[in-house]
Amino acid sequence: MLTQLLTLITLSQPSSILIQGGQVIDGSGSRARLADVRIVGQKITAIGHLKPRAGDHVISAKGMVVAPGFIDAHSHVDGWLLSDPVAESQIRQGITTSVIGQDGGSAFPIKDAFKRYEARHVALNIASFAGHGTIRGKVLGKDYKRNATPAEVAKMARIAGQEVADGALGLSSGLEYEPGRFGSTSELVAMGKSVGQKGGIYISHMRNEDNSVLKAIDELFTIAKQGHLGAQISHIKIGSARVWGKAPEILAKMAAAEKTGTYITADVYPYTYWQSTIRVLIETQDYSDRKQWEKGLEDIGGPAHVLLGNYGPNPAWKGKTIAEISQMTGKDPVSVCQEIVQATAGGGKDKEETVVVTAMSDKDLDKFIASPRIMFCTDGQRGGAHPRYAGSFPRILGVYVRERHVLSLESAIRKMTSFPAQRFGFQRRGQLKKGYQADVVIFDPKKVLDKSTTKDPEAAPVGIEDVLINGVPVLEQGKPTCKTPGQVIRRVVRLR
Ligand SMILES: [Zn+2]
Repeated sequence: MLTQLLTLITLSQPSSILIQGGQVIDGSGSRARLADVRIVGQKITAIGHLKPRAGDHVISAKGMVVAPGFIDAHSHVDGWLLSDPVAESQIRQGITTSVIGQDGGSAFPIKDAFKRYEARHVALNIASFAGHGTIRGKVLGKDYKRNATPAEVAKMARIAGQEVADGALGLSSGLEYEPGRFGSTSELVAMGKSVGQKGGIYISHMRNEDNSVLKAIDELFTIAKQGHLGAQISHIKIGSARVWGKAPEILAKMAAAEKTGTYITADVYPYTYWQSTIRVLIETQDYSDRKQWEKGLEDIGGPAHVLLGNYGPNPAWKGKTIAEISQMTGKDPVSVCQEIVQATAGGGKDKEETVVVTAMSDKDLDKFIASPRIMFCTDGQRGGAHPRYAGSFPRILGVYVRERHVLSLESAIRKMTSFPAQRFGFQRRGQLKKGYQADVVIFDPKKVLDKSTTKDPEAAPVGIEDVLINGVPVLEQGKPTCKTPGQVIRRVVRLR
């Protein structure tokens, strides 16, 4: 009896952790400073020169940076987190919170999905958008390749508003994908109004990310302005050589919009190549048109820039570029592309197809990575061919901060932590501050680096040693603890 009682008392004592001797970068943008951090239970209770106390679990952070946990602003972990709640590929990057429900697709209704995450217990904190495509699918069913009627638009707007009232951050759209691309601007404005009234924002994989990217950005600005809500451009990129060099223009537009009351932000991943379906090379969606394919391939620099990441119909083509396949088969590049589209029509298990396309300029990407209005994301798919899935955050720290000096370490950390936390209204997260939730990353600034490549897309990064989520270590000296302390972060404040 007495032993049981003693056990109970020990268990009910919140754990106390002291992170000693590290360079604290608090996430606000302030300069690094030498300090200790004490965590009791889920919260940071003190920062300063602290002495260990009896019962403290001490983590030595000598030579290391101690920062708030990273926030992945555009994540696809909703594809698998419930079946693999430890999320090793994410925590190894220092990610402690993932924003899901992106590109127009989300679990529906959101309140039930949130309960599933809470019942399952997952490592990461999650917050979610409600998907435009998902809601459109609910209302229009199979007959979705058309404009919605006014009554249908009203219904979609009502549902979107309800999802935001139930804790979604806002409305996400994927306007290059089915079924989202059939949604008109006015439909999105109507849904945006409803979402904005409930305190949410609009986030979008826009209608175009290459030749017509400027037009697509105009559409996003229109939806934000007419819908009276803030907006975020998902995984911003300029994916066509014809429009390279426009990053300063886009950033200036974002700044100008803020002056007139519309707050526009963006997220970006640190690679000059994207992953999607080969179909997005053809804006007209007329895949039989050889001229369109020639133009599409030319825009991204030719068939050597298109790598087939996954290909169900013929695994021998996997990992090869269209140029290589063309040479292997003796077919011209356009015929190869057309064959891929035909062989994967309708989708399904053995009809998978993804391409990795090198189509961005380093100069534009550097501008986006340095901009204080742009946060970071992975946008990666498990099993995909793109290394962003396992490498984005360490790559920023290793390549863009340490090797290339595109931005300072303090600024990079701000863009990974307090900036997204403020943008999405996360309360008491995103900074190392007394009273804040203890989402913490400890990494070696001299070592941190991504190791994932298109050949080995899920290779783990190096240099990230310890990660704590809500005060619980999920990565200890580089090893996952398999603990699942993540929480669902519901929107509770009005976002701007
Ligand atoms: Zn997307």
